Amino acid sequence: MISENVEKFLKEMPVKNPFGETVRLVAAVKTQSVEAINEAIAAGITMIGDNHAQEFRDKYEGICGSPQRHFIGRMQTNKLKYLVGRCDLYQSVDRLSIAEALSSKSASSGVISDILIEINPGGEESKGGFKPSEAAYACAEICKMPSLRICGLMAMLPESEDEAYLRSLARNMRALYDGLRAEYKDFRYLSMGMSGDWKLCVECGSNMIRIGTALFGKRNYN
Ligand SMILES: *Cc1c(COP(=O)(O)O)cnc(C)c1O
Repeated sequence: MISENVEKFLKEMPVKNPFGETVRLVAAVKTQSVEAINEAIAAGITMIGDNHAQEFRDKYEGICGSPQRHFIGRMQTNKLKYLVGRCDLYQSVDRLSIAEALSSKSASSGVISDILIEINPGGEESKGGFKPSEAAYACAEICKMPSLRICGLMAMLPESEDEAYLRSLARNMRALYDGLRAEYKDFRYLSMGMSGDWKLCVECGSNMIRIGTALFGKRNYN
């Protein structure tokens, strides 16, 4: 089931977005067993993203095939110790205090950590992330932190049936990304798109999508 889903998805997703950039697929693996994740990797998944630091730690050794490991969930200072040195991309840096904590933990571990700045394009209270209008300031501040490298932006669109609205938010994210990319040389990822909205996001210029349900089926949180 999972391998079929992965193969089907890899066939369906475009290799490039309309900007000519390669589109990356990150499997969102929260709640999935090591067996399920390994099945997805065997079928062609090369990047996996976790939401919970303990889950990341507990499954770390069992994952086969050395996929890139991303963190996509809410980051907490006291749990960074499970991640630093083992995570290839922290996608969900959503506040300056967590960026400072990650930089200092990275420095003491002797690593440079690659991060994305999380933006909250719909201004939703329930989600983390900087407002689009704060993105430039956040980049300027985080850029001063010696053990972090800013590789782009991450965003989660709101749930909405209004496709025109979602497209306008996604296009605004791409414009924001392009503006900052002109200034920050390590910018290369705009991570935007989940099972329900990835097509629209890629059409508007996302080059990294994070997919859970479409690969693993509906999540079981028990
Ligand atoms: C769970 C999750 C996804 C994937 O969501 P699906 O709708 O299951 O594809 C993507 N991004 C983040 C940050 C997530 O927590």
